[in-house]
Amino acid sequence: MSLYCMTCNTPWEGEGDEYICPRCGGSIASDNCLEKHREEFRRLLRAGSREGIWGYQKLLPYEPHIRPVSLGEGNTPLLKAEGLGKRLDMKHLYLKNETLNPSGSYKDRFSTVAVTMAKEKGVASLALGSAGNAAGSVAAYAAKGELPCFVLLPTAAVRERAWQIQTYGARMIGMECSIAECIHFVQKGVPVLGWENVSTTMKYHPWASQGYKTIAYEIGRQMEFGAPDWVFCPVGGASLLGKVYQGFEEMFRLGMIPHIPRFAGIQAAGCAPLVKAYRENRRSTELWKEASTIAFAIADTETFEGVTALDIIRKTGGLAVAVTDEEILEGLKLMASSEAVIGEPASASVIAGVQKLRRKGVIEKGDSVVCIISGSGLKDLPLIAKSLPGYPVISGETLNCGEDSAVMAELRQYCCV
Ligand SMILES: *Cc1c(COP(=O)(O)O)cnc(C)c1O
Ligand SMILES: [Zn+2]
Repeated sequence: MSLYCMTCNTPWEGEGDEYICPRCGGSIASDNCLEKHREEFRRLLRAGSREGIWGYQKLLPYEPHIRPVSLGEGNTPLLKAEGLGKRLDMKHLYLKNETLNPSGSYKDRFSTVAVTMAKEKGVASLALGSAGNAAGSVAAYAAKGELPCFVLLPTAAVRERAWQIQTYGARMIGMECSIAECIHFVQKGVPVLGWENVSTTMKYHPWASQGYKTIAYEIGRQMEFGAPDWVFCPVGGASLLGKVYQGFEEMFRLGMIPHIPRFAGIQAAGCAPLVKAYRENRRSTELWKEASTIAFAIADTETFEGVTALDIIRKTGGLAVAVTDEEILEGLKLMASSEAVIGEPASASVIAGVQKLRRKGVIEKGDSVVCIISGSGLKDLPLIAKSLPGYPVISGETLNCGEDSAVMAELRQYCCV
């Protein structure tokens, strides 16, 4: 399938292996010849897929000749968040629960395509630079696909991520540098070490990134093709926002949804190059000097797909907003206690963003809003624990005395609702 620029529509004719539009800096995507397959695609989208993202392969850039390396990714629930909606004074709030993917994040929709493609190509080994979730995801599929996998991870990354990667059997190499630099070194290693670069940015893998479009296809079907007013996405490198938009845009062009949602890009205040560029009315983002936030999965100092994300946010009438770590933790606990979804800080940033924009009146009570809950906070319990209250402990002495009443009296003291 041919490649083109998502922002200025120029066909991709570049050589080399960095896919960024030479004309405008936009993202490169694959053309699935929508108009030609109009009826077939409409039928497919309406029917949905029982095989997760692979049931949509006709709309994706690649149909494998081998059995896909799959772990049951995709087909995640869209939860109507009534309790959380009440707390935020909203009537139609939804959570697309991507935490339920096999490795715990939406990145699995990329990895299943990337690892299947690599396996079919007969590569010797995979390598990627990652802030943690991408590597956890690729490492999972590498294990299933029986391919060696090397991970360059910034030493500042969360320990639990490294443990997950190692448990899948991938080889970890800690790097005292940023995530963007880790990805750069992987690319350098391709000709020297025989690696296949499976870093999750579109810049190196425009095909597998298309796997993220299936999030939009699923939401479309789950809402019976009445599109939401808003989609809230966390933004790091901005692949997620760009591809979810592309999925909605395709459904709109196929005449399946009445409108394209407005896109809100949420970043952490401690690393917000997209929000800065949006506010300053720029076309492209600048490098953020130093990231400082608990939302590690979106702490990208370089917004690989900044041009495309800014274009999407503006043309859909959306916006970009930054939230503080405190607001993120509040959102995280609010979502967990009202909807039983524990998102990691990067995902909870979206709830903080909704709360902020609802308070300001930018979002109205009756607007329908879909939040992409991108990854699981079960990997972040040590971090979350820091903001939880202590709990009482009943001493062993009281328990051993044989007299229930003392224990009950103490329990009663702690357990009034
Ligand atoms: C990677 C990641 C993001 C950011 O996605 P981008 O495509 O880099 O913008 C958000 N949340 C989680 C949980 C992630 O793993
Ligand atoms: Zn372009």
